Amino acid sequence: MTLLEVQNLSKRFGGVTAVDACSLSLDLGSITGLIGPNGSGKTTVFNLITGFLAKDAGDVRFKGQSIAGFGPNRIYGLGIGRTFQLARIFPRLTALENMLVPVRRSGFRALVSRGQWNDERSRAMDMLAAMDIASVAGLLGGSLSYGQRKLLELAAVMMAQPQLVLLDEPAGGVNPALIERIGEHIRELNRQGVTFLLVEHNMPFVMGLCQKIVVLHRGAVLAEGTPADVRGNAAVLDAYLGS
Ligand code: ADP
Ligand code: MG
Repeated sequence: MTLLEVQNLSKRFGGVTAVDACSLSLDLGSITGLIGPNGSGKTTVFNLITGFLAKDAGDVRFKGQSIAGFGPNRIYGLGIGRTFQLARIFPRLTALENMLVPVRRSGFRALVSRGQWNDERSRAMDMLAAMDIASVAGLLGGSLSYGQRKLLELAAVMMAQPQLVLLDEPAGGVNPALIERIGEHIRELNRQGVTFLLVEHNMPFVMGLCQKIVVLHRGAVLAEGTPADVRGNAAVLDAYLGS
């Protein structure tokens, strides 16, 4: 079953066509990699899917329903979470407080009883533990390492129990030992049913994690297939070497 379908999506910035009639689809329960040279439109595709940018043309369908034109909060509410190229966490809140921000932001806190609020806290602690960062729950976000911030951001996104999560360079700038662990956490969440689309420059990481790879070049899909298909594709090599 197709969970998300991007159809002929386009986005221009002035004279630059950042995304050019891009089409791709994500199978329910899959991990798909979106790769391509710098400036090929990967982050813009993420911003279009998640409602941070408005498309110029094309469509995005989630579970068969068009979501193009919806704002970020509405899309988040439908079950599509995302992380950012530079982890967006609140440096002056503790890790645990960071986990509870989405709950507060939705105005939910005012509606829930103390008991339910305690449930949210314990769910947050469980999620931090699942990411192996329970020990930093009381530390300020700003004091965490780069890799810990990435894990915290992922844990916070999971609080909303999304069906689909878009990760923008989850391994970027993270030390090799932690990259391995981030990969394991993504795999585990995937086993629990979460579908992933991830942008990443670390080729061994993407190739090891994804069943399908989509290669973007100048905003359009240049190739797609299994990691082995893509690795052996001459056009893909040209695109990388030529940029
Ligand atoms: P990638 O994530 O693959 O590196 P981006 O999606 O960030 O690529 O960028 C694709 C193209 O769109 C680039 O040429 C970039 O300079 C341009 N671009 C991206 N965002 C903006 C923006 N907000 N305003 C103007 N140009 C942008
Ligand atoms: Mg990018």
